[in-house]
Amino acid sequence: MSPITDSPSGVIERHIPATAPQEHHVARPSAKAIERQELLDAFAPSQLRWDNLSWVVITFIVGMHVAALAAPFFFTWSALVAALVLHWATCSIGICLGYHRGLSHKSLKLRNPAKFIATYFGVISGEGTPLMWAATHRVHHSRSDKEGDPHSPYDGTWWSHIMWTFVKNTPRKHELLIKQYAPDLAQDATLQMFERTYAWWLWSTAFLLYAIGAFFFDGGALLSTVGLSWVLWAFCLRTVVAYHSTWFVNSATHIWGYRNYDTTDHSRNLWWVAIAAYGEGWHNNHHAHPRLARAGHRWWELDPTWWAISALRLVGQAYDVDDRIPDRNSREADE
Ligand SMILES: [Zn+2]
Ligand SMILES: [Zn+2]
Repeated sequence: MSPITDSPSGVIERHIPATAPQEHHVARPSAKAIERQELLDAFAPSQLRWDNLSWVVITFIVGMHVAALAAPFFFTWSALVAALVLHWATCSIGICLGYHRGLSHKSLKLRNPAKFIATYFGVISGEGTPLMWAATHRVHHSRSDKEGDPHSPYDGTWWSHIMWTFVKNTPRKHELLIKQYAPDLAQDATLQMFERTYAWWLWSTAFLLYAIGAFFFDGGALLSTVGLSWVLWAFCLRTVVAYHSTWFVNSATHIWGYRNYDTTDHSRNLWWVAIAAYGEGWHNNHHAHPRLARAGHRWWELDPTWWAISALRLVGQAYDVDDRIPDRNSREADE
């Protein structure tokens, strides 16, 4: 046999003959371990420096907040209804069901068209591409409240809530993130398409909302205050409210609330985040049993995202749903 062969991982390794004299040296970390450490270092709070900020993300987030503050001055009832419907669609279906329980944890699988629609709603939440979101969340579970956690409140409350998003996402960081934490998802053609066209979906949705408001509720006016109302309410304010719902899961539910399970992190169950984030506030339950499709484990821990999963399963659009309810003393390994 040749001393050089392909390993299962695809990396060419050199086999040392059994008779070769053994050197005594300290074991070096593998290339994978070195790359993983490089990635975890890229998530450290010390990366938040003036020369390492993502001005695209900062401008977008600040701009959305300013526009959200302007929304009350352009109120219309139709825009309010659109904002409420889209808040549920993006936050519960897009982020909680699609990005989080579906992609990050594989608690369920979706058939098309539900798969495409849920992913689209995740994309227009403005919280990043599906691959980036799911992989970053997996880092959170693997390093929760330890060094390398992308957003632990024990590195600072504001850091965990919003400021961690301000750090530049270099191509190298993105490559390592997907390679290390989402190689299984990276092959998916739908996710690849959204990865390439992310910004297009976001901006065309804003344009579509303006067009719907102007065409159906303002007599087709080209310059329409109703169209503007739809953009400010159903795109900007809706996104900002959903941002903070998601970010409270990262910050508040690792600080306040009660614990059903004795996990190794500081995760908590917090009722008002559960309301704001469609069930994701039962975060201690989730860290104890990350693969389960339902986050509420007691009868009064209401989980609207689980209701949506159940409805999709009923019509055959969701399958392989992990619908177990664990007993109180059990805990799966977090990952
Ligand atoms: Zn957490
Ligand atoms: Zn999770």
